[in-house]
Amino acid sequence: MLNPVDSPVPGRLTGVLFIDGAFRAGSGAALPVVNPATGQEVGTIPATQPDELNDAVAAARRAFKTWSRLNARKRADALHRLGDAIAADADAMARIMTAEQGKPVNEARGEILKLADACHFYAEEATRVHGEVVPNDQNGYQSLVLREPIGVVGAITPWNYPAELVGWKLCASLAAGCTIVIKPAELTPFTALAIAEKTLAAGIPAGVVNVVTGKGSQVGQALVEHPDVDKIAFTGSSAVGLHIQQSCTQVKRLSLELGGNCPMIVTQSADLALAVKGAARRGFRNAGQICIAVNRIYVARSLYEDFVRELGAAADKLTVADGLQTPDADLGAMASGEPLGKTQDHIADALAKGARLVAGGRAPEGEAYAAGFFFRPTVVADCTHDMKVMTEETFGPLIGVMPFDTLEEAIALANDTPYGLASYLYARDMVDIQTVSAGLDYGNVAINNVDAGIMNAPYGGRKQSGIGYEHGREGLLEYFNFKHVRLFHGVGA
Ligand code: NAD
Repeated sequence: MLNPVDSPVPGRLTGVLFIDGAFRAGSGAALPVVNPATGQEVGTIPATQPDELNDAVAAARRAFKTWSRLNARKRADALHRLGDAIAADADAMARIMTAEQGKPVNEARGEILKLADACHFYAEEATRVHGEVVPNDQNGYQSLVLREPIGVVGAITPWNYPAELVGWKLCASLAAGCTIVIKPAELTPFTALAIAEKTLAAGIPAGVVNVVTGKGSQVGQALVEHPDVDKIAFTGSSAVGLHIQQSCTQVKRLSLELGGNCPMIVTQSADLALAVKGAARRGFRNAGQICIAVNRIYVARSLYEDFVRELGAAADKLTVADGLQTPDADLGAMASGEPLGKTQDHIADALAKGARLVAGGRAPEGEAYAAGFFFRPTVVADCTHDMKVMTEETFGPLIGVMPFDTLEEAIALANDTPYGLASYLYARDMVDIQTVSAGLDYGNVAINNVDAGIMNAPYGGRKQSGIGYEHGREGLLEYFNFKHVRLFHGVGA
């Protein structure tokens, strides 16, 4: 059976390519996909070959001719159907995601349902795209500023949010009238293939959506360099994002959603319990494997010891388990040995430089954890900026905490990073709120909450965290070219 969704989970999934509206067994080597909670192989995916990638791009180019001209209402209807099809199969899709990525099933289901919401959001936005008529410097002329879809989009995505990060690019592309070739992370290809299957159920025409699988350095790189791909929409690490920017062999549109090293500031006026709750949620959800995870927290000295103790207690209460067996666990397995190893390295570095271990710092004990990449949520206190936990993206369940004395010092420490994705502030005093939020050099600032991204508002990073936006109207504009049409009609000339 080629269809990944029809295979029982946990069971073997059969990887395929999705090209021109049909699943196709790839001709390249089979690459294993492993359940990070058990170490067992979930299935294999084909390494897409150059001729197969050419087929996918050619299918997207052919489909663009008709999809880009289809009226917006019809494209919106298709996106609504896609959202419905995804929501209707959320349970099965969530289990596929958990089997390949490790996050608990309930959390995975939540992500699938948010993807369904994104389909409906962009369906509505599709019908509201309009150009402008702008003033002219001479009588008798009219200038129209039109928005036209860019063309064929190459989407390259990471493994931490296997549905949403594919879906935002897919939904915005389809709403704008673009077609898309998706290269999902090699750790989490089956969620992307399950989404592709839903595009069939939604009646989205052949070639509008295509999925190719394989390694980033081969298939991803070939997609970036493909002469018939008009735009690359990339989410992943800053290192690979920079490499992609430098390796485009021709001028093409690029949006880059990259890494983060996100600070939280807790001022003297903060609601301590609320701040602790927010820190534990945004620091440890998805086992900390989130670009907008709270990595480091600066706490007003008067609250510092209380905050450290309460955050440690909150971390110790969180449950860690196999996300398929325990759907409501707080943390599942980490996605692979790489983020786990980096987490352990950052902890060892901090402790060697004088940090205090407050919670975690170890894998959970017991037979059930022996074969997977599990780790307890960890808090280290008394940190300084010569520690990796405070200056590099950990991408694991680790938070570093340090005290501050003045707001200026806290803002300077928060901005002392090459990244500029998301930042967090807990404060009740309006002067604290105004001073800190104005001073933070970040694309997103969440105050007294930790939900830095919502569908209606632009989401993007500054500095080494990226170029361009997802979400909101701004996210949709990334998929358009402007065209200025200047017309001489002579009236009033
Ligand atoms: P990664 O950069 O290693 O890989 C991302 C994708 O790029 C994968 O599909 C990979 O196969 C592909 N790739 C790798 N080398 C390539 C190349 N030479 N050419 C083209 N494609 C290539 O990232 P990851 O480890 O999968 O994900 C974690 C990173 O993603 C973290 O740094 C995280 O902060 C970032 N991220 C950012 C956001 C955001 O919205 N800003 C969201 C999620 C994750």
